[in-house]
Amino acid sequence: MKESRKKDITLDSPLTDVRKIDTKHKEALKRLGLKTVRDLLFYFPVKYEDFSTITPINKMVIGKKNTIQGVIKEIKNSTTRRKNMVITNAMLEDDTGALPIVWFRQPYLESFLKTGTYVTLTGTIEHGYNGLQMTSPAYEKYKEESIHSGRIVPVYSETANITSKWLRFFLKPLLKHAKECPEFIPKSIIDSYALIPLDLALNEIHFPSSKKELGKARKRLAFQEMFLLQIAHLFKRARFQKERATAIPFDEELIRDFVTTLPFTLTDDQKKTAWQIFKDIEKDEPMNRLLEGDVGSGKTVVAALALFLTSKRSLQSLVLAPTEILAMQHFNSLKKLFRKSPIELALYTRTQHHTKDGETTEEELIEKLAGGHIDVAVGTHTLLKQEVSGKNIGLVIVDEQHRFGVKQRAELKKSSTSKTKPHFLSMTATPIPRTLALALYGDLDISIIKEMPKNRKTVQTQLVSPYDREKMYDFIKEKIDQGEQAFVVCPLIEESDTLGVKSVTEEYKKLNTHVFPDVSIDLLHGKLKKDEKESVMQRFMAKKTSILVSTSVIEVGIDVPNATIMMIEGAERFGLSQLHQFRGRVGRGDKQSYCFLFSESPSNTSFERLKTLESVHSGFELSEKDLEMRGPGEVYGVRQSGLPDLKMASLSDATLIAETREAASTIIKESASLKKFPALKRELNSFEKTVHFE
Ligand code: ADP
Ligand code: MG
Repeated sequence: MKESRKKDITLDSPLTDVRKIDTKHKEALKRLGLKTVRDLLFYFPVKYEDFSTITPINKMVIGKKNTIQGVIKEIKNSTTRRKNMVITNAMLEDDTGALPIVWFRQPYLESFLKTGTYVTLTGTIEHGYNGLQMTSPAYEKYKEESIHSGRIVPVYSETANITSKWLRFFLKPLLKHAKECPEFIPKSIIDSYALIPLDLALNEIHFPSSKKELGKARKRLAFQEMFLLQIAHLFKRARFQKERATAIPFDEELIRDFVTTLPFTLTDDQKKTAWQIFKDIEKDEPMNRLLEGDVGSGKTVVAALALFLTSKRSLQSLVLAPTEILAMQHFNSLKKLFRKSPIELALYTRTQHHTKDGETTEEELIEKLAGGHIDVAVGTHTLLKQEVSGKNIGLVIVDEQHRFGVKQRAELKKSSTSKTKPHFLSMTATPIPRTLALALYGDLDISIIKEMPKNRKTVQTQLVSPYDREKMYDFIKEKIDQGEQAFVVCPLIEESDTLGVKSVTEEYKKLNTHVFPDVSIDLLHGKLKKDEKESVMQRFMAKKTSILVSTSVIEVGIDVPNATIMMIEGAERFGLSQLHQFRGRVGRGDKQSYCFLFSESPSNTSFERLKTLESVHSGFELSEKDLEMRGPGEVYGVRQSGLPDLKMASLSDATLIAETREAASTIIKESASLKKFPALKRELNSFEKTVHFE
């Protein structure tokens, strides 16, 4: 009966079929998302304890940690008279000698490590009352098959009420099923990157035979993960490239004439990235490009160049922004940039309907768009709704969104009547280092604006000591009296207060009643309705208010040139990149601007971290530092950025990313549909389901 049950176990068997599991462990497994044998095989240790170097008793080093292994010769509890504390004295013997062992306050050891038990002990050797002894060592019994000790021992995350010991026992006999995992990495890739087989890697990752083998297992498993990610990117890209777009041929003279109408000369990076875009859209396959550039680096004009050319080819464009305010800002900037060009511009959001000539109705805009009478429609995602459709949309630009999702793409399909697909350009001010960008957005081409326009003043940044708070307030008051404006950003203090109403409201009250009683102050937080937010922003832009107290909702893209002060409370709660984004809200006009960082009780590390903002003004440099210090998950937030949830591969491992990228493109070149590699195709499908990227 037992035998026949065992035979039926496969990779897909539920763990509850493997053996009887008590309720506590059942629940723990469920919480960890471990349902099948396969799940468990891919539940990797978080670290290892290295018991692999067992020291013979006669070779121990005094004052250092040693791991010894042998048999318990005697063990006995006693109680000290003075403190009434239980002491366990034992004697451990190996082939080379014997050593006294002492534990305190662990009376159960007397019966747990009975005379005759084989144990591995790790601890420090020191001088005791009776000569050398090992005091309070970590202990583990070992049996015939030493799966816990005497080697490199896996330690699993113990957050879910499940011990590593329990997992080891459960997992060890299941490892034989590892060979049922199909090898899906093509042979040529296995060979050229010297990867070990998956089966072996799984065995070694759980029960390493040596550090060297563990290294190989890690490499194999990290490789396969990043390889799948890159294959997924390239696969998607290949699929995308099969679609047809309308080619938008470049015309040097047209562009040159337009550029002379601009109020400034383009930076080299603006020219370079615009050129990359022109090269893309002159093909009849859709562009899929990400334009990265620090706040204020001038992405809008690059977008305008592409919009301009597109309109000259009688194609329409959409510009999508995440909020109504940003849409309105884009509309106004584009209106300025296009003031000498006969381009029909529209603003279409839930509440606003404008053409270049002024306010209009929703019906009229819908009609004009459908008739092809609007060249460039700026708006929020309302532009993608069913009733709105263009006549012939050639270009879609999305601001502050890294990736245009499959869903939005589908929505867009409905909103254009033309047969070809539009070209896509996403823009973001979140500076992502190139290697990470390849891991995250490997399906996109990437253009980066690094250089800032020359007239830009750097924002003076200072980490302010709590003692100087009053002085700072005086300084701010002085600036406000001169007609300048200030932002005050507050973090979310309580987890439950996800919209940040509490902290920001308190700060607002404090500033309004005590600190700046005769200054007009306004409040912005996530709980306000869209329209309320809009009017708060409008008042600030119209200089009706001098101080805007806000949660991080002001992070993206707001342009108020008259604001010169950015004051950030609880700065240690924000990442460097995010702080840099806040800082980018000021320094947009020609006046000197300031960023003041307040920190409640900075630890040494956060102090150091915040200090870097004083000297580093490049968003890219800051994001690299941020990545180094906090890792990609913390920096970009797994959810928000669609950061894939990888188990083994590191998103900051540049070599791995480069290697897997190369391997993936070799494979895609050989078989774009992956028809030649069915096992890989199957694995890719399940990978895309589990990793949740996009
Ligand atoms: P972002 O990249 O943050 O979207 P914007 O496109 O809003 O930046 O540009 C920020 C400001 O810089 C705008 O006021 C814009 O007019 C100005 N600007 C853009 N390019 C240049 C340039 N080459 N020289 C001078 N000013 C520029
Ligand atoms: Mg912008």
